[in-house]
Amino acid sequence: EAKKAGRGRYRFYSPSMKEEARCRKHTFDALAAGIEKGEITCHYQPQFDAATLELSGLEALVRWEREAFGLFMPHQFLGVAEDMGILPDVDDVVLRRVLHDINKWERAGIHVPPISVNVSASRLNDPTFADQLRTFDIPVGMLSFELLESAFLDTKNNVVDRNLDVVNELGINIEIDDFGSGHASIASLLAVSPKRLKIDHALVSPIDTSERQRDLVKNIIGIGHMLGIKVVAEGVETAAHIEILQAMRCDFLQGFGLSRPMDGTNTGHFLSTTAEARAARKQA
Ligand code: C2E
Ligand code: MG
Ligand code: MG
Ligand code: MG
Repeated sequence: EAKKAGRGRYRFYSPSMKEEARCRKHTFDALAAGIEKGEITCHYQPQFDAATLELSGLEALVRWEREAFGLFMPHQFLGVAEDMGILPDVDDVVLRRVLHDINKWERAGIHVPPISVNVSASRLNDPTFADQLRTFDIPVGMLSFELLESAFLDTKNNVVDRNLDVVNELGINIEIDDFGSGHASIASLLAVSPKRLKIDHALVSPIDTSERQRDLVKNIIGIGHMLGIKVVAEGVETAAHIEILQAMRCDFLQGFGLSRPMDGTNTGHFLSTTAEARAARKQA
């Protein structure tokens, strides 16, 4: 096996620590410069009402248009951003970009659905976050913040509580992202009254092949509904996934099987053609 993987493998898995540190420093410097140069942008992935398959919202996903490299995905730079303490800056740029895009689309007469934005634990723990948020003009009910379970590990932290109070005050919804893949207690998650739970891709993916996994997802949806929380399935890739999740009364679906993330320009086109198609259906 090792032989088949070839020589590159050794180098990939065992870089000298010095080499790795230099590489991370290099990425960090380029990222810090990239933020300044406006290379951080976001793509949008549509979400759909499970019952009707009509568009219900968008999730904003950060991308780095790195000069001379092309498009960088979150896993290629969010780790470095976090370790170097600039993940809150990345999140801030994404939020500004989203507000900018909403504004641009609305001025062009395009109907914009609610948009979910990922907010890192480090930004939620930033004491200046609340004051920054207040400076934005955020349309009530238009935005959700997706928080990972890891954001709730320190429940005695009153910075987080204060920030969440302001989030609430501004009419921004809370969603628990990657539900079922972290270590937070259910009690600590429910304490923030989330509007939606997003079931992690890893739990959704095997529902068409494993009865146990299917039962698990079905029961998570049931728990959500018992508590009055809507449930979003992530990683919906196949027709079988869609059918099973519809039968389970899952509320919303997101995944490559329905739509891939698109850049801002294509999202604008997508939103206008979706609205036209809906109007045409209503007339027919
Ligand atoms: P996430 O928030 O759970 O976002 C969903 C991820 O799953 C996205 O990956 C999306 O492209 C991918 N995905 C969507 N449908 C499918 C599918 O059917 N199959 C599979 N295999 N994957 C699917 P992406 O864009 O690479 O983002 C990865 C993660 O990076 C996100 O996971 C989120 O945790 C983080 N992230 C993205 N944008 C931001 C941001 O602005 N701020 C912060 N702090 N984190 C972000
Ligand atoms: Mg997310
Ligand atoms: Mg997720
Ligand atoms: Mg994820």
